[in-house]
Amino acid sequence: MMDGTGATGLSVRCYCAAVSIAASAAPKSVVNCHCGQCRRLSGAAFSTWVSFPRSALAVTGREPLSAFQATANVRRHFCRNCGSHVFTEDLRLPQILGVPAGALEGQPPPPSAHYFVDDKAAWHGLCDDLPRFGGESGMVPATTPRDSR
Ligand SMILES: [Zn+2]
Ligand SMILES: [Zn+2]
Repeated sequence: MMDGTGATGLSVRCYCAAVSIAASAAPKSVVNCHCGQCRRLSGAAFSTWVSFPRSALAVTGREPLSAFQATANVRRHFCRNCGSHVFTEDLRLPQILGVPAGALEGQPPPPSAHYFVDDKAAWHGLCDDLPRFGGESGMVPATTPRDSR
């Protein structure tokens, strides 16, 4: 029985602890996503995504996992006991799984950028100097002035 802690010291745990996922490799990226899908599904202003190689995540306690097909390409996996979102897969990036940073045990690296800034909540102000990306794809370099609200 695994203890849910991978070699990186990072693991994923849902709120009720029925689902845990050990990470055996370091994250590939950490970014903030301000798209409407992330906002609606998380209930928060934005989601911070920690991307791991798919092969690095080992799920224990799979039984309570459920999946929701959010879009044609994106499936979001959550614990049906407590509702915590624990990872997302994107068919366009099959080698990667995205974990919401708030579901992690341990400290991931800080986010490196903001994506989909043109879709961000009007009631949320960005107040850091991280690179910003927006437009239709969410990934076009943006020139949003610092702390525009
Ligand atoms: Zn749970
Ligand atoms: Zn998003």
